[in-house]
Amino acid sequence: MRIGQSTDIHRFAEGRKLILGGVEIPFEKGLLGHSDADALTHALAEAILGALALGDLGHWFPDTDPKWEGVDSQIILKEVARMMKERGYRLGNADCLILIERPKMAPHITAMRENFARALDTDIANISVKATRGEGMGFVGRGEGVLAQAVVLLEEER
Ligand code: MG
Repeated sequence: MRIGQSTDIHRFAEGRKLILGGVEIPFEKGLLGHSDADALTHALAEAILGALALGDLGHWFPDTDPKWEGVDSQIILKEVARMMKERGYRLGNADCLILIERPKMAPHITAMRENFARALDTDIANISVKATRGEGMGFVGRGEGVLAQAVVLLEEER
């Protein structure tokens, strides 16, 4: 078994869609970034890279490459899943956390888990997604951005 973890941070910006866990969430602002800026999916994908000791997401999907401009981060996650399988591993389980002040994540959690389960070819029972607020403190609490974290356990396929 191998363990991996990652944190991703994106800033809120006007005129952008808010996409987290592959779900488009109705809100007055979105997240700034080269791809669709899906911080939660980035954290999960990078945690898998971490478990495989393959470096960070920026190494494989550089923001200087126009190929990844505005890309759906589920495509990035599927590509990371392919790299994981190629090296003889499958996802054991993942635990993901979003720190966001607004809007409420609860109505979207199931859809996020379904997206991750599909991209990683695993059962939804192996995917946990949680959210918490910043209680008005720090950049999360002031609504300036979001912070996402993921921890994964990979199992060697036999
Ligand atoms: Mg990111």
